[in-house]
Amino acid sequence: MITIRPIPAFTDNYIWYLQQDREHWVVDPGDAKPVIQSLGDARLSGILLTHHHFDHTGGVKALKAKYDCEVYGPGSIEGVTTPLTDGDRFSLMGRDWTVLAVPGHTLDHIALVLDGQDGRHLFCGDTLFAGGCGRLFEGTPEQMHDSLSRLASLPRDTKVYCAHEYTLANLAFAKAAEPRNPALDERIEEARAARAKDHPTLPSTIGEELQTNPFLRTQSAEIRSQSAAQGANPEGSAVEIFATLRHWKDTF
Ligand code: ZN
Ligand code: FE
Repeated sequence: MITIRPIPAFTDNYIWYLQQDREHWVVDPGDAKPVIQSLGDARLSGILLTHHHFDHTGGVKALKAKYDCEVYGPGSIEGVTTPLTDGDRFSLMGRDWTVLAVPGHTLDHIALVLDGQDGRHLFCGDTLFAGGCGRLFEGTPEQMHDSLSRLASLPRDTKVYCAHEYTLANLAFAKAAEPRNPALDERIEEARAARAKDHPTLPSTIGEELQTNPFLRTQSAEIRSQSAAQGANPEGSAVEIFATLRHWKDTF
């Protein structure tokens, strides 16, 4: 069985650490030091990358130099040994993995789906966050909306491992976008309790995100009327509502 745990990095990044027997992999190591510390005497088998931003790739050079390990990720990133593109399938730790292109936050962004013994696990970097989504640095609202729709169509019990602890801030925005969603109140309570104990709020699940993440809920009548107050046409397309929410969140 593969165990998955977060290695905190910088102020709010999580480097996901996957381990099974003598295999040790990390996702998006923005910093090498906390990874080396977590490994102890173990050798890093490889690195998985979701996109090129420095807080996700800054540790690659040092880790590769120290462990001579493999690097799977978008081919545009320096140091990648196995370039991945949309639809690719590969095997790691005896399990099947699938690659989904999810442009929007960056154009090279991919998400990785691990088909584990205990269900599916989604490593989605800065695309889907617990209660939110990444900023649009390179892509269009349409691209990001399409990317989020792909992730939202995964089975509801898929576990979601995003790369930042942004959940409380995201849920505060979600509450403004959809004040009368009761599932949201419950989720805010749970997230507050976790953070009070310094526990991660992750992983979440696709089901939870469908119920409470405003960026996946552009059909909600309440979100549409709240978006109208921000200038959107309440009868507008899902992409238009999404774009309004994303713009509103940028200055929230
Ligand atoms: Zn990023
Ligand atoms: Fe990031």
